[in-house]
Amino acid sequence: MSDDCIFCSIVAGDIPGRIVAETDDAIAFLDANPLAPGHTLVVPTSHRQRLADLDAAESRAVFDLVHDLVPDVEAAVEADALTVGINDGEAAGQEVPHVHAHLVPRFEGDGGGP
Ligand code: 5GP
Ligand code: ZN
Repeated sequence: MSDDCIFCSIVAGDIPGRIVAETDDAIAFLDANPLAPGHTLVVPTSHRQRLADLDAAESRAVFDLVHDLVPDVEAAVEADALTVGINDGEAAGQEVPHVHAHLVPRFEGDGGGP
């Protein structure tokens, strides 16, 4: 846990997060400024800044939860597809220094995407 990390505070329950799913080593919650309805973030429960900082078990936990949630998130908002992505490092657009995978629901003709 990092005291000044917003995602650690959500994991710890110190600030409210709209939790979607939780396992021992990963947690999913709704993005506060969604790019689309249902925009979900999946994070390791331990504070890790970059993907390379995750050990194999933590990495598996994050990607297993992403994998499990893809159909659920898509169905929940009746999306046509999902963009799944990670901004790994500041120059890539990472604003919160705690690894997070974005699950962004996509709709035919929405014109978005990376
Ligand atoms: P990044 O640019 O680091 O890949 O994405 C950070 C994401 O975290 C953004 O989509 C932003 O909306 C989201 N975010 C930032 N602060 C909070 C917060 O306090 N709660 C939640 N649920 N999401 C946040
Ligand atoms: Zn953190």
